[in-house]
Amino acid sequence: MTMTAQVSHAKLPTIEKERLRCKYLEERNKRLRPDGNDQYLQIKGQFARYLDDPYMPVVERAAKTDHVTFAFIGGGFAGLATAARLAEIGINDVRIVEKGGDFGGTWYWNRYPGAQCDTAAMVYMPLLEETGYMPSEKYAHAPEILAHCRRIGKHFGLYGNALFHTEVTGLDWDDTRSCWMIRSSRGDAFTAQYVGIGIGQMHVPKLPGIPGLECFKGHSFHTSRWDYGYTGGNSQGALMEKLADRRVGIIGTGATSVQCIPHLARACGELYVFQRTPSSVDVRANAPIDPGWFAGIATPGWQQRWLENFSANQTGGSAELDLVQDGWTDLSRRIRARVMGLPREQRSVENMRIAFEECDLEKMEEIRDRVDTIVRNPETARHLKAWYGQLCKRPCFHDDYLQAFNTPGTHLVDTDGKGVDAITERGIVAAGREYPLDCIIFASGFEIGTEYRRRAGFELTGRAGVRLSDHWAGGMRTMHGIHIHGFPNVFLVQPTQGANLNANVPHNLTDAARSIALMVGHARAHGFREIEVSREAEDRWVELLLTGVGQMIGGSACTPGYYNNEGREPSPAARLSVGHPAGALAYFKYIDAWRNSGQFEGLQIR
Ligand code: NDP
Repeated sequence: MTMTAQVSHAKLPTIEKERLRCKYLEERNKRLRPDGNDQYLQIKGQFARYLDDPYMPVVERAAKTDHVTFAFIGGGFAGLATAARLAEIGINDVRIVEKGGDFGGTWYWNRYPGAQCDTAAMVYMPLLEETGYMPSEKYAHAPEILAHCRRIGKHFGLYGNALFHTEVTGLDWDDTRSCWMIRSSRGDAFTAQYVGIGIGQMHVPKLPGIPGLECFKGHSFHTSRWDYGYTGGNSQGALMEKLADRRVGIIGTGATSVQCIPHLARACGELYVFQRTPSSVDVRANAPIDPGWFAGIATPGWQQRWLENFSANQTGGSAELDLVQDGWTDLSRRIRARVMGLPREQRSVENMRIAFEECDLEKMEEIRDRVDTIVRNPETARHLKAWYGQLCKRPCFHDDYLQAFNTPGTHLVDTDGKGVDAITERGIVAAGREYPLDCIIFASGFEIGTEYRRRAGFELTGRAGVRLSDHWAGGMRTMHGIHIHGFPNVFLVQPTQGANLNANVPHNLTDAARSIALMVGHARAHGFREIEVSREAEDRWVELLLTGVGQMIGGSACTPGYYNNEGREPSPAARLSVGHPAGALAYFKYIDAWRNSGQFEGLQIR
C-alpha cells in the first residue's frame, strides 16, 4: 500500500475520540460470549408452534406433478420481481412456491404494530413505475407494502400458478431432460426448466436460549408471528385494547422492537422492555407523499433513476444530487465530503478509514445527545445510549421510540449487556429480579449466521449428483451472486457476492431479475436448454471478491450482533460473504454492461 500522511480533520478533539474508543471497547467486551450464534435456539420440536402462521389458514389442495418453465422459491420481492420481468417477455408459466399463505415474504410474516420500511419507499418498494403506484408516505407501513406485493402478483398474473403454504424440500437436476425436479412439504413433485431462489436473508425466526424458556405459563409469541387474537388491535396500528390490563415483557431492542414498542407502550397496562444492547435511534422524519409533487417527478424511468441515485449516495459514488435524503445517505455524504476535502494525494484507503471513523463518532454523539433531549428520566436516558459505531448494528430511525419511555407504565430493564438471566413459570428474571408477566414477546431476530442448508430447509443436488452444501463447504461460490457452477438453470436472487452492502436490498433483487429475464429470453430465442456458469468464470469471480480491502464497517471490533458473527472472527467461509470489491455502484454498472453486451461472458449457454 502507498504510504500517505494521516490527516486529522476531526471536529472531536483527539482526547475525546480516545475516550469514545475506550468506552466502545469496554461495552463490546461486556457482551462477548463464548457461545456466539449458539446462544440462540433453533425453533423446532417443543418450540415449533412459534412458527405457526397466525394470519391465514392452510387450504387443502392436490399435489402438483406437472411441468413449468420457471419455478421460483420464495414469494417476496425477489420472486415477484423475477416473475414480473419474465411475464414481460411472455413467460407466463412461472410458479412461485412460498411458505406463507400469500405473496409478501418478510412483509407477509412481519405484521407487528408499527412495522414500516426503513429505506425510503420510493426506492424500497419494487416495480412502482410498472404498477403505476405512488407510496402514501416516505416510509410506508407494512400493510401498504403487503398490499403492494399483492398488487404485483395481480398485475403480472402470478396468482394462478403460485403454491402457498408450501415448503420446498428438495431440488434435483435431471441431466437427461435438462430440468429440475422440485419436491415439497405438500407432496408436490413437478419439474421446471429453470429455478430461481430468493428466500430472503432473514426468514427463520430464532429464540434466545434463555434457561427456563419452556416453563413460562403465560402467553408468548415471536414478533414475526404477531398474535392479534391475544393483543387486540391490528397491523394498521389500531390500539391493542386487550393489553390494557396486561403485564407484557418484550425481549430484544433491535429494529423490530424500535418500531413496535411505541404501540405496546400505548396499549399495555405495564410494559417491561428487556434490553441487552440499545439500538442507535436517529430521526425518522416520515411524511406523506404529495401526489402533485409525485406527478411532477414520475416521468418515464423515474424509479430506476431514484434507485441509482440512492446507491450512488449511500455506497460511495459521486452524485451531486441526493433525491432520497435520509439517514442512510447522510452518513455516506458526510464521509465523502470529508475525504473530498483532502488534497488528492492524501485520499488513501487509510485516510478514508480515518474519515469514516471520525464522521461516525460525531454522528453517534449526535444520536446519544438526542436521547437526553427526549427521555425525561436521566437513568433511563443513560441506558438508552448506544456505545458503538452506527453501522456496527442495524441503524434505526424513529420519532416515537425514545418518547415511549416517557409513558407511565413503560419500564426499561437494562441488563448491562448480560441479557435476561432466566424465564420462570411466572415471568422473566433479569438483573437479579423476577418480573411477573402475562405475556412475553420475543423480538429476538432471525437466523443469519447459520448454515444455508438449515435456513433454506432444502438441498440442491446438481449435475453428477453434487450437493450444493458440498460445493459450498468452504463458503459460498457464485458468479455475480447469481450463478453456481454445476447447478445449471439455477439463479440466486439475493445480495451476497453482488452489490451486497446497499442499504436498499430490493435494488439487488430487481437488478438480478432484469439479468435473469434477459438470459432466459436469449436462451429461448436461440433454442438453448441450459445456462450454466463455467468453473473458471466462477473461480475468477470469487478471486475478484477476495481482492477487496475488507469491511469498512462492522468487523470483530464492533459490539456483537448478527452483523459481525456475534463478535467472533469470521470463519474462512464467511470471508466469501462479501460484495463486489469496488462497491454496489460499480457492481450495478458492471452487470449492466455485461448483460447488454449480449455475450454473457462466463456462461455456457447450450
Ligand atoms: P435483531 O437480531 O436485530 O435483535 C434481536 C434483539 O434481541 C437484540 O436486541 C438482542 O440483543 C436481543 N437479545 C437476544 N438475546 C437476548 C437475551 N438473552 N436477553 C435480552 N435480549 C436479547 O432482531 P430484529 O427482529 O429487531 O431485527 C432483525 C433485522 O430485521 C434488522 O436488523 C433489520 O435488518 C430487519 N428489520 C428491518 C426492518 C425494516 O426494514 N423496516 C424493520 C425491522 C427489522 P443484542 O443486541 O445484545 O444482541
